Amino acid sequence: MLVPPFEMHVAKSVEDAISLRSKFGDDASFYCGGTELLLVMKLGLTDLAHLIDIKHVDELRSISIDDSGIQIGAAVTYREIENNPLLLADRPEFVSMISGIANLRVRSVGTLGGNLAFADPSSDPATFLLAVNGELEIGSADGKRRIVPMAGFHTGPYQPDMRDNEMIVSIRMPRNPSGGVVVHERMKLKERPNITVAVYASAAQGVVTQARVAIGSIGLIPVRFEEVDESLVGAELANLDGHLKRAATLASDNILVFDDANGSVEYKRHLVDYFVQKVARKAIETILENSNK
Ligand SMILES: Cc1cc2nc3c(=O)[nH]c(=O)nc-3n(C[C@H](O)[C@H](O)[C@H](O)COP(=O)(O)OP(=O)(O)OC[C@H]3O[C@@H](n4cnc5c(N)ncnc54)[C@H](O)[C@@H]3O)c2cc1C
Repeated sequence: MLVPPFEMHVAKSVEDAISLRSKFGDDASFYCGGTELLLVMKLGLTDLAHLIDIKHVDELRSISIDDSGIQIGAAVTYREIENNPLLLADRPEFVSMISGIANLRVRSVGTLGGNLAFADPSSDPATFLLAVNGELEIGSADGKRRIVPMAGFHTGPYQPDMRDNEMIVSIRMPRNPSGGVVVHERMKLKERPNITVAVYASAAQGVVTQARVAIGSIGLIPVRFEEVDESLVGAELANLDGHLKRAATLASDNILVFDDANGSVEYKRHLVDYFVQKVARKAIETILENSNK
């Protein structure tokens, strides 16, 4: 399988990248780590005459943490996230999720922005960001920026809510001042996860005050259900099992899944039930133990 010939353009800034994309229209695409794009081109699923290399745009390459939260440039690679001391100190569970993606080869060049822009249904970062109320900064041709929540950014498989003259500039997530806990787990039988669940929980005086359960890599897009989140509020160590069972049943009843090579609908609902209970238990037990200290 050979990649068909194309011309590479190296963008100098976000505006330069978007204007090149506008100039070449449907014949062009942004190129970052290339781990998805080159595969799609090799398979002949797309025919692009121009690739716009965005890896050297400074603004897309920075990581910063301040009172407003954590900001990661779209072209930062997974490996750079894994090795970033600020992120390791502030959001170790995010770094740990990133270090379980794919393999070292993919993580050395693959980027967070490329993952979210491609909107593959098996996205670990999209599921994690959904649980922590993450956001994306989107740049457009007129130089304007808009901030969009992760929730709603993936409208379907391979369908990010972005226009042709837009790109992801950065990914944002809150720091963790309230002392909440996030637990992320995935099950992988092949290269990509079969299910990913991320749960955020906070508590006060031994009672869960807030929960967010994100389920990905099993349906068409990562999802959260309000009734699942609400069913965990009020949980205490003494009555945890009942809350967990209710949350898992609501999640597995509500999830939209299909029979395919990864398993039947029944099997997938079972996975959702099992992982929601398991991951929510870990998050809630940890936060309740912390809140009792
Ligand atoms: C073998 C393998 C295993 C994998 N396993 C996992 C896994 O376990 N979990 C998981 O979550 N993912 C997994 N992935 C997916 C992987 O995370 C993505 O391939 C990677 O993050 C894509 O980033 P990239 O920089 O290579 O994107 P590219 O291939 O360069 O780009 C992908 C798409 O996004 C567009 N794009 C890139 N950057 C931007 C931007 N800033 N703004 C707008 N559009 C942009 C490109 O035009 C292209 O359409 C796996 C991939 C492979 C190949």
